[in-house]
Amino acid sequence: MKLVDDAITTAGSLPDYFVIGGKLRRADEAITVLDPGSGARLADMPMGTPADVDEAVATAKAAFASWRSLEPKARGKLLWHIGDAIEAKRDPLALVEALDTGKPHKDALASVDRTADFFRYYGGMVDKLEGTSIPLGEGKVCFTEKVPIGVTGHITPWNVPISMVARGLAPALACGNTAVIKPAEDTPLSTVLLVQVLEEAGLPSGVVNVVTGAGSVVGQHLCEHRDVGHLTFTGSVGTGQLVMTAAATHLASVTLELGGKSPHLILADADLDKGVSIILNGAFKNAGQICSAGTRLLVEAGRHAELLDRLARAVQDMTLGHGLTNPDMGPLISARQLQTVAGFTDRARAAGADITTGGNPASVAGYEAGFYFEPTIINDVAPDSELAQSEIFGPVLSVLPVADLDEAIAVANHSDFGLAAAIQTRDISKAMRYARAVNAGQVFVNGYHNAGDTVPFGGMKASGIGREKGLEALDAYTETKAITVSY
Ligand code: NAP
Ligand code: MG
Repeated sequence: MKLVDDAITTAGSLPDYFVIGGKLRRADEAITVLDPGSGARLADMPMGTPADVDEAVATAKAAFASWRSLEPKARGKLLWHIGDAIEAKRDPLALVEALDTGKPHKDALASVDRTADFFRYYGGMVDKLEGTSIPLGEGKVCFTEKVPIGVTGHITPWNVPISMVARGLAPALACGNTAVIKPAEDTPLSTVLLVQVLEEAGLPSGVVNVVTGAGSVVGQHLCEHRDVGHLTFTGSVGTGQLVMTAAATHLASVTLELGGKSPHLILADADLDKGVSIILNGAFKNAGQICSAGTRLLVEAGRHAELLDRLARAVQDMTLGHGLTNPDMGPLISARQLQTVAGFTDRARAAGADITTGGNPASVAGYEAGFYFEPTIINDVAPDSELAQSEIFGPVLSVLPVADLDEAIAVANHSDFGLAAAIQTRDISKAMRYARAVNAGQVFVNGYHNAGDTVPFGGMKASGIGREKGLEALDAYTETKAITVSY
């Protein structure tokens, strides 16, 4: 496939190894990594073992003492420099990310830019991790320090691999921790390349290590490892529970970013000229494979028919194609995910669902073996139904009519999840009532994903524990030590 071959040539060769202590490791057994846009084999990555995890953790543990004691200014400067080094490798990293995930090339470029930004943002924080002083009266001085935890484990999903690694890694390193990463089997390539960019930029070998392999083996062993003090996990609810259970065996702390079924409310006074593209961006970006996607569209009576019509027409204009051709929407990550998404729409159809548009796997000329699914809108979805309750992780938007704001709040909160929520209205009072009432870690008003990467992000209820991004993320990677001196 010429497009893909040319991209690999431009990017340079793809990795077939992982990295422990700066050394490249290969294994006898391989994971086949596919291009979701064509279904073709991209690379073979090593299937890591528990022994590899043990070695990576021991290496990260050995690297901890000197990394934590590096002068804060120097550590901050290095992280900032890493941001620049990532930017210098923007094109090859984005090509590999687009190939491995199937996402539109422009989105892969944006992911790499965000990756660089995470290192700069947290690099700027290293010399500002200040403690407090607590008054204990005459004869005593009491102060706190923020100290690193030690070895941190990072387990990442396949939907936004490179920037999600950076989201956890940059604050972990800023706080003086070392790391072992286990990327998703479907998308390990950019993570391995990122670790090499970090080392080329001057990060001491062993501070960050990566082991590719199966979640149930490499991931599980990393979570159970007694020398790992904190685990940062992004993925599904079920796996998050396994991570937390394993962490509990040795009392490691966890940050869990899990799923969502985020409600996006359109009130009757909304500006639909702007609103339609906001809705589509919220629901179909990354082919709907975003944990915070706005997948439950709550529409107030009065604008329902008009909005549905405008959405259907806008979806007809969307282009679907291989990520390297920069379509509006690329493929799903895998044949398995395609089957999962089709399962939801097949069951809905069998139950008599009103499918406004889409609902089926799609074929893209020249890429017939890719994992494409049509952008799908399903109307009149009942709040208790599978389509309204389960995370699909594909381009399927469920439309739920609501009578008014009060009913909308009740329907919005009728969910196990609580990751994000959005509202479109010209009425600031209604916007604020909704924003305050809805159970979600982030709320967007007259926009979707309009907060950016310096804003705390994470879920309530089954959507997770803890917050990533922003200054708040630093809390997860430090412990507070209180020192009291009597004099
Ligand atoms: P997943 O199956 O939970 O996998 C996530 C990661 O966990 C992968 O690296 C996986 O490895 C690993 N893993 C699997 N079993 C494990 C175990 N027993 N112990 C430790 N690690 C293990 O999720 P996914 O299918 O990759 O991603 C889809 C889900 O992630 C969706 O539900 C979505 O909502 C959620 N997600 C959430 C966010 C967020 O920020 N909140 C972001 C992205 C995705 P393998 O790849 O080898 O299986
Ligand atoms: Mg892939």
